[in-house]
Amino acid sequence: MKNYNVNEKGYYGEFGGAYIPEMLYPNVEELRQNYLKVMAEPEFQKEFDQLLKDYVGRPSPLYFAKHLSEKYNTKIYLKREDLNHTGAHKINNTIGQILMAKRLGKHRIIAETGAGQHGVATATVCALMGLECIVYMGEIDIKRQAPNVARMKMLGATVIPALSGSRTLKDATNEAIRDWINNPVNTHYIIGSAIGPHPYPDMVTKFQSVISEEIKWQLKEHEGRENPDYIVACIGGGSNAAGTYYHYLHEEDVNIIAVEAAGLGIDSGESAATSVLGKAGIIHGCKTLLMQTNDGQITEPYSISAGLDYPGVGPMHAHLCKTGRAEFMAITDDEAMKSGLELCKLEGIIPAIESAHALAIFEQKIFKPDDVVVVSLSGRGDKDLNTYINYFNL
Ligand SMILES: *Cc1c(COP(=O)(O)O)cnc(C)c1O
Repeated sequence: MKNYNVNEKGYYGEFGGAYIPEMLYPNVEELRQNYLKVMAEPEFQKEFDQLLKDYVGRPSPLYFAKHLSEKYNTKIYLKREDLNHTGAHKINNTIGQILMAKRLGKHRIIAETGAGQHGVATATVCALMGLECIVYMGEIDIKRQAPNVARMKMLGATVIPALSGSRTLKDATNEAIRDWINNPVNTHYIIGSAIGPHPYPDMVTKFQSVISEEIKWQLKEHEGRENPDYIVACIGGGSNAAGTYYHYLHEEDVNIIAVEAAGLGIDSGESAATSVLGKAGIIHGCKTLLMQTNDGQITEPYSISAGLDYPGVGPMHAHLCKTGRAEFMAITDDEAMKSGLELCKLEGIIPAIESAHALAIFEQKIFKPDDVVVVSLSGRGDKDLNTYINYFNL
């Protein structure tokens, strides 16, 4: 049987690895040597589980969406990551990484953020643990995402604008890496998705794997079996998807569907459908599928949802795509917005626009009436209210 987990060298098939400047090697190596050991400590697991329960509010419900199921004539379950503290799955990872940082003796935390969601999740856990928090954010994004900047400040974080390049996520990441090189001893860098140099994709995946761990026993309660016929998640960098798939990767009766943002359309030049448009390349320290020009410059991605507006996918997903283990589907802005509004009307749940992409597959693909389809509802739509208002003229 094929292996879909990371190997000891940090690769998923041909993807992954640690392509980093030499100056960063000691930091990443310290983490690589320790992360599995630390995660296996009973004390670490106990503290992680306790915080997920009492602070995040886990387990998140697995909700049978009756009206949605009736409409599409199949059995649809929603994994309610939107009900977590701070409104999405991102907190699972930041809780895990802040505990890791503490075990490694780090008392200063840095992070990069695009739309600000990962910055808020990081600032939250730093406040919880009383650690210094510095968030790098592109100057343009700071202007576009004022409420999240305010949240981070209220939580005690320092937000530093990235002033170079396009002044967005890529430039914020460069600033964070520069900071880490200059502060190797006391600082931990919390990466926000299943990307980056090894061991980050694997570490983030393992922290997020609580999602599929819960789905297994919850589905058993609902349906009398642990395995659904399909498991579905949207992919930006791929952390909610990695966590949703993790315990099903080697269950061959479970079909995996990965949903990317097509933006204005795959061929429009305004898209983030990496599996179709990408080629192997290096981004943020790993080899993966990446949208790039013929001479290897990273292409600016586009999606109406900030969380999916990323030019690559994590290396695990590149491997799932290449091997055919996962079926990749691309959903446009319009399709996602329509499905987001549909969930509001049918189930009384306002989803994040990222999550609405995963819901839109039911318009594209026909499932059998007795198929069980579990969809990761990665986040709630409060943060997207302005986008909904402008799009639908509400
Ligand atoms: C950030 C975000 C995503 C995309 O990130 P992944 O790492 O791909 O999961 C998806 N949904 C929501 C609600 C988000 O906030």
